[in-house]
Amino acid sequence: MAKCNFCDADFEAGPGDLLLVCPYCGTAQSVQGIKFTDHYMIRVHYDEGEAKTTLLDWISKQLGAPEDLSSSAQFLKSEQIWYPFWISRVDADTTYSGLGRDATFHNEWPQMRGAYKRFEYFWKPESGQFTRRHEINIAGIPNIDEDIRHHPIPTRAKEFFSNAHAEEFNGKVLHSTIDLDTAKGLAKQMAIDKQTQLVLKEVDKIEQRNDNINVGETFLIHVPVWELEYRYGNKKYRASVSAPTGYVIESKYPRSMSFRAGGIGIGFLMLLIGAVLIALALDLLGIGAILQGGGLISGGLLAIIGLLLMYKGASSKEAKESI
Ligand SMILES: [Zn+2]
Repeated sequence: MAKCNFCDADFEAGPGDLLLVCPYCGTAQSVQGIKFTDHYMIRVHYDEGEAKTTLLDWISKQLGAPEDLSSSAQFLKSEQIWYPFWISRVDADTTYSGLGRDATFHNEWPQMRGAYKRFEYFWKPESGQFTRRHEINIAGIPNIDEDIRHHPIPTRAKEFFSNAHAEEFNGKVLHSTIDLDTAKGLAKQMAIDKQTQLVLKEVDKIEQRNDNINVGETFLIHVPVWELEYRYGNKKYRASVSAPTGYVIESKYPRSMSFRAGGIGIGFLMLLIGAVLIALALDLLGIGAILQGGGLISGGLLAIIGLLLMYKGASSKEAKESI
């Protein structure tokens, strides 16, 4: 439990929560009760009904989705969760020197231009500089779903956090287990890693580097996501839909019986053909080895693809909207 330093209300907080948002007055504060003002949100543009409609529309367009899904799916749960993220603008400047791999070529083949009989690798000293501004995004809670972690946040559309706006949708605003200083430290390290990746595109071995990393504006932003659960047939499926953009972050969906039966049928056929090819290659049918190693390989491949198709047909598919 925690006590709000601004409206005196008691509210739930876990032991790891370091930056708290009071569910009554919406004030972001440290566990010591110091107000944190750089607190933003992305506004909801899809209410509960619109999020559900968007999800069903999207699923209906997926390959093999049952035709009666929109009319037969029954929503069991819907909850709007506000996920915390820390965003930092980091200016990074790296000068480096190192060694790059290079090669010399000898004895071009007479008939093949650009093809050589012999080449020698050697190390060549190189140096350079990268100046970049990175926007670093750090999730404010541990064990966050990977798809929610990486879904795009339109930070240009940010507004100051409004508790009234979250309350309109009964939104649950999560505390952050990361405080400002930790967020800045992580942002600095991630910027250094990004600079390292840039340098390693130019040289294979870094011999010397000098980093000038400046962590600038860092703010907390809450992003609302609709967490939905629905039933189709006798199975339950979960889905996450972005409340600002209607983007389907992740969703499992059922596939129609005919689609699945088709997959299983084709898979079985391929398995059968594969088996025949293997039998011919090994001369199991006693008509002389017609196909040699090639038959064995293509037969084996067909059998594997066939098994995969049968497996896919029998399982429900997890689908995501591509970015
Ligand atoms: Zn309060």
